[in-house]
Amino acid sequence: MNATRHPRIAVVGAGPGGLVCARVLQRHGRPVTVFEREASAGARPQGGSLDMHGGTGQAALRAAGLLDGFRALSRPESQEWRLLDPATAAVLPAQGPPDDHGEEDRPEIDRGQLRDLLLDSLTAGSVRWDRAVSGVTPLGDGTGRLLFADGTTEDFDLVIGADGAWSRVRPALSDAVPGYTGITFIEAGFDDCDTRHPDLARMVGAGTMVAGADSKVLFAQRNSNDHIRVYIGFRGPEDWQVAAGVELGDTAAVRAHLLTMFNGWDERLLALLRDNDGAFIPRPLFALPVPPTWEHVPGVTLLGDAAHLMPPLGLGANLAMLDGAELARALVTEPGVDDAVRAYESVMLPRSAEAAKGCAEGLAHLLPPTGA
Ligand SMILES: Cc1cc2nc3c(=O)[nH]c(=O)nc-3n(C[C@H](O)[C@H](O)[C@H](O)COP(=O)(O)OP(=O)(O)OC[C@H]3O[C@@H](n4cnc5c(N)ncnc54)[C@H](O)[C@@H]3O)c2cc1C
Repeated sequence: MNATRHPRIAVVGAGPGGLVCARVLQRHGRPVTVFEREASAGARPQGGSLDMHGGTGQAALRAAGLLDGFRALSRPESQEWRLLDPATAAVLPAQGPPDDHGEEDRPEIDRGQLRDLLLDSLTAGSVRWDRAVSGVTPLGDGTGRLLFADGTTEDFDLVIGADGAWSRVRPALSDAVPGYTGITFIEAGFDDCDTRHPDLARMVGAGTMVAGADSKVLFAQRNSNDHIRVYIGFRGPEDWQVAAGVELGDTAAVRAHLLTMFNGWDERLLALLRDNDGAFIPRPLFALPVPPTWEHVPGVTLLGDAAHLMPPLGLGANLAMLDGAELARALVTEPGVDDAVRAYESVMLPRSAEAAKGCAEGLAHLLPPTGA
């Protein structure tokens, strides 16, 4: 790297991948600015629980100097995983979660806690909130120009797109766009479950409960603060509600439709559809074409979902964080920015291709195409 001037590095997106990247750079004395479209750290709830795998998410946290902080917040007991028979709600003998890769040390942490841990580790002012990026132009001299939604621009020696599934940085490198997988998850939640929903809490246990049959699945996972989050998965068109004749905001109508869809399942499992607090939130699943790939362009790269969005089988945040840590390390150790990005991409792209293929196969196994 230039001995007199550190490269100007922009990270677009304050998700787990972008924040790990920024933190590891700062640990090594490298300046970095994170641009985030959300108005503030508390602008929206961050969602459910993530299990951090030893070789990926935890390795990234170690590189960030945050493994002890993570251990203090995480819930090792939530690694528990049980498979239930849809017809009887009996616990079935099971090998373990589809994504464990033989790793036994995979404690869970709420996304919001993980994000706060990372945000608190950065020097004040590193994240520029309410700065939505609308695109990037590689300038041809190895630098990149960020265009913001408010029409302003800023130039950097490296723009790192860590802006998730619908990345505005990706088009500078690739024409790939996420495609609908044919599967929708609908999220539901239960508050104060040990006191208000004790039978359901016992059925779910301390970690994750899964029941699946006929291309339908129910996932329920413990979060902190006595909350259980449920994902109701099924195959169908992205606009399934049109054929079903229900309005997404009409909780009673969505519930009635789901109960019909899961007809014949044990009543204790149907309580996951019947008794939830609040609305049903649709989460149609999208994925980028496999393998993720692009021709190297100086001054711009991607990490995490922006690079390799894949079905959510427990890898996405872990891989995003590993990407962030490895890219930052390369930027610290390689002689120049372009050497660093090439070294990072040469490892990250094949790794992501293999993981994305595994996730696509895992999803097809969990929710086989109808008639398969
Ligand atoms: C239902 C579901 C369950 C999942 N469960 C798991 C799990 O158990 N384990 C796991 O490892 N993964 C899981 N995943 C996947 C995981 O959520 C993602 O892979 C992970 O969040 C990707 O991290 P990221 O940093 O790449 O992007 P993101 O987390 O998407 O962060 C991107 C950030 O960029 C910001 N941004 C977006 N556009 C712009 C813009 N134009 N300008 C500025 N900022 C922008 C966003 O606001 C956001 O803060 C799940 C996903 C889903 C949908």
